[in-house]
Amino acid sequence: MLCKVCRNKATVEVRQHNAAYCNSCFVNYFLKQVQRNIQAQKMFSPQDRILVVVSGGKDSLSLWDALIRLGYRVTALYLDLGIDGYSERSGEKCRALAARTGTPLHIVSIKEEFGLSVPELARKTRRIPCAVCGRIKRYLFNKFALEGGFDVVATGHNLDDEAAALLGNLLHWQTGYLARQEPNLPASHPKLIRKVKPLYTLTERECLAYALIQQISYLAEDCPYAEGATSITYKEALNHIEQAAPGTKLAFFKGFLRHKDLFKNQEDGLELKECSRCGQITTGDVCSVCRLREKATAPPKRPAS
Ligand code: SF4
Ligand SMILES: [Zn+2]
Ligand SMILES: [Zn+2]
Repeated sequence: MLCKVCRNKATVEVRQHNAAYCNSCFVNYFLKQVQRNIQAQKMFSPQDRILVVVSGGKDSLSLWDALIRLGYRVTALYLDLGIDGYSERSGEKCRALAARTGTPLHIVSIKEEFGLSVPELARKTRRIPCAVCGRIKRYLFNKFALEGGFDVVATGHNLDDEAAALLGNLLHWQTGYLARQEPNLPASHPKLIRKVKPLYTLTERECLAYALIQQISYLAEDCPYAEGATSITYKEALNHIEQAAPGTKLAFFKGFLRHKDLFKNQEDGLELKECSRCGQITTGDVCSVCRLREKATAPPKRPAS
């Protein structure tokens, strides 16, 4: 197989575009795709301050690296979830890329913020770790970006993530979620920061190829709590279809973006206000993270005598 651009020996096949590239032409293709997504969705400009949230995995580290190479003003944020072993190893990968690129990385520890790690918070509040984790992450990303004066928060969600989320939302007709599933999610309140996903047309395989070619050291293991997640089942189903009909995932997600107006006015329309405890945005009087914090730190109930 020959590289589509320079006709040297190809090393990466991009089946969704029926193309193949050598290493250096693949890097150019990847960076061009990221740049095209940023411009097509009007995500940000070179003057904007971008907070890229990183987990130590191939997608977020590839995004961080790509944005630096494209000349954007990037600061990275890593949340230490306090998950035994996994968090230490993922934090290490983020620190290594920060050192290599000479770009700023902020580390926020959940244990320092809340007094308890994600698994401990989940145990104390009798919730599943992912529910606690997702809520805290959204809260802290926004809080950090707001206090730091960032214009936008960028995450490493790729095409596989977006197509799987879309499939899940459609299977359960979650029309409110469908209305809000966007690669460029506008801020619906002055205290909410816009969220963007510049990798939304690039597959997980392409992100992996980029990380390998650029010699980015990433954490290959999944979070121990990811096992059994329904999103994995949806990804496997979509991969099965993609195998038989390359390009389906991209057509599925791009088609959804073209038909997004179908879900207009499906948002829950709840009034947004400031949490009476922390000032972050919520729909009730007290935000869910403050409620979680209170529940987790409440003294244990005395057994009835
Ligand atoms: S798998 Fe669950 S606990 Fe682990 S990082 Fe993801 S959301 Fe958090
Ligand atoms: Zn080439
Ligand atoms: Zn609050």
